Amino acid sequence: MNKASQDIGIKYYLSPPDVGGRERSYLLEAFDSNWIAPVGPFLTRFEQAVESYIGEGHAVAVSCGAAAIDLALRMSGIGPGDTVLCPSLTFVASAAPVVHCGATPVFLDSDFKSWNLDPDLLEEVLANLNAKNRLPKALIIVHLYGRTSDLTRICGICERYGVTLIEDAAESLGTTYEGRQTGCFGDFGIYSFNGNKIITTSGGGMLVCKTKKLAERARFLASQAKEKAPFYQHVELGHNYGLSNLLAAIGLAQVEGLDGKIEKRKRVFHQYQEQLSKLEGLKFIPALSGVSPNYWLSCITLDPAVFKRSPEEVKNFLMAQGIEARLLWKPMHMQPVFDAAERYGGSVSESLFATGLCLPSGSSLTEDDVTVICDALNQTLKVAN
Ligand SMILES: *Cc1c(COP(=O)(O)O)cnc(C)c1O
Repeated sequence: MNKASQDIGIKYYLSPPDVGGRERSYLLEAFDSNWIAPVGPFLTRFEQAVESYIGEGHAVAVSCGAAAIDLALRMSGIGPGDTVLCPSLTFVASAAPVVHCGATPVFLDSDFKSWNLDPDLLEEVLANLNAKNRLPKALIIVHLYGRTSDLTRICGICERYGVTLIEDAAESLGTTYEGRQTGCFGDFGIYSFNGNKIITTSGGGMLVCKTKKLAERARFLASQAKEKAPFYQHVELGHNYGLSNLLAAIGLAQVEGLDGKIEKRKRVFHQYQEQLSKLEGLKFIPALSGVSPNYWLSCITLDPAVFKRSPEEVKNFLMAQGIEARLLWKPMHMQPVFDAAERYGGSVSESLFATGLCLPSGSSLTEDDVTVICDALNQTLKVAN
């Protein structure tokens, strides 16, 4: 069965777009103004809205989150022969740009208390690599499902070893750590506005730079590196990574509604907690103290010693009832494409993959919707006992 036929009959999607009148009106305004190219006033307004939301940095709108990672790597001077550390438990788009720019990803395990990069492991690995004179040039840190690890510590470790920190905050726009927005801690931060993220432009991304000068450089590289000259002059090669002004119009309305969407996703998560917490062996994705999550996805783990049904079987059961659930990201070191990649750490990411499940988490879910989903979950999980 292909994906399209599977999707027919889905009533509760994992994380569908949540748009309304304001998105429609900005989009039509952009259309009617004839600024339908990857230039125009909504791009600037969208970038400024993100800057003012996160409270620091210089934002550059691009065509997707992966393009923003690519620009961050390029501007960090990453190229052939370099290594870049990356958590294994993530979506492939965190690591693929590393390979695309000719460098080699090295994968690190997570810890159970954050589901994210284990800072003890990072410290140990950097000490080891340093002793061998093999320090990586950069670390791409990921804030999984809108949660994060101890960023103060990780920033300190990177600084100590002179490792550039790139934050893949694709899933965590709106998540704060000790009051500061994720995406602002690293040398560069990136957000994704892909269709299932907390806010969407249908497809899009944002790069956050520390200085205006770096943002200008990113804009230059994202628009085919055209030199200032009376003709098309190129000293170096760039990309066509621009975002359409039409999509920026949707994005602006989405940022303006971001806090409301976080509030709704938080309510969904808490309702799951209330209605499922009686199930022994079922655990929720944790948040470290100091973290205020954006609640992008509500994720659980199922203890195999308690439940007979595997997450995959539970997922299939839910899907058959029109409820879209997904397994957690399959770790990068388990992917055939990264068969030969170097990796460090234990099997936390493998264990999370084997036991975890993402539940419908969208900001348009009603209380009744969540109750229906919990009833279905209770039903399938009880069978296992
Ligand atoms: C979605 C996502 C990306 C990629 O974003 P695109 O906009 O689809 O390119 C990168 N990293 C993580 C962790 C993601 O979840």
